[in-house]
Amino acid sequence: MTRLPVVAVFLLITISLAATNESRWTREREKMVRNQVEARGIVDPNVTLAMRKVPRHLFVPEDFRAFSYRDSPLPIGENQTISQPYMVAIMTEALHLLEGDRVLEIGTGSGYQAAILAEIVEEVYTVEIIPSLALRADSILKELGYSNVVVKIGDGYAGWEEYAPFDAIMVTCAPPHVPQSLIDQLGDGGRMVVPVGEEGKVQTLILIEKIADQILQTPLLPCVFVPMRSNHIPQQE
Ligand code: SAH
Repeated sequence: MTRLPVVAVFLLITISLAATNESRWTREREKMVRNQVEARGIVDPNVTLAMRKVPRHLFVPEDFRAFSYRDSPLPIGENQTISQPYMVAIMTEALHLLEGDRVLEIGTGSGYQAAILAEIVEEVYTVEIIPSLALRADSILKELGYSNVVVKIGDGYAGWEEYAPFDAIMVTCAPPHVPQSLIDQLGDGGRMVVPVGEEGKVQTLILIEKIADQILQTPLLPCVFVPMRSNHIPQQE
């Protein structure tokens, strides 16, 4: 064999291995959406389409990548976690998102939830208190072409005044009470989902709706999120 065909064969093998890997992830993702999301009653096509599309495994650190499409949260470093796929689905569906919406997320973490939001709405603003996580999420989101997501390092308890009001706010860390600043930054007709409760205890996922300055609160389900860390929360050190 001359040198050229050997190189060509090597290249072909590499390309076909990469393609096999890619179709394996796509198959796993399809199974995840069918068995964990649709089978549990999530019907919003915006949500299921986004979850079929976003490559969750690229947001999961390499050590845990093989488990990316499992029915559980996973570690992302710094003692934080990427949420269970079903939790992402239920929270996203509860926000009743529309294409033109401007959404605030508190707790960027891996950036996966921000990507799901970015598939559905026009503008996503996301705040993360741990700089290394914010930087990592920002670079993955940029690599994948999510130019409609803006990531900020900061304390999300205070929201993001500069871009308020928001049509929807998603909080993915648990404060002991609903931060008033976030309620204030919801626009008229705005929706927010937030897991509320004390650290180490089961929390309640609450849906908040602002209708003509009335605040409606509906408990949705018990859940367990990492605590919100903030100097604005008096009982924390
Ligand atoms: N939505 C994420 C999962 C978030 S885990 C994802 O898709 O991967 C919760 C995140 O909230 C953690 O990364 C944690 O560092 C962050 N967090 C905790 N307190 C915060 C605060 N006050 N402001 C912003 N982020 C906070």
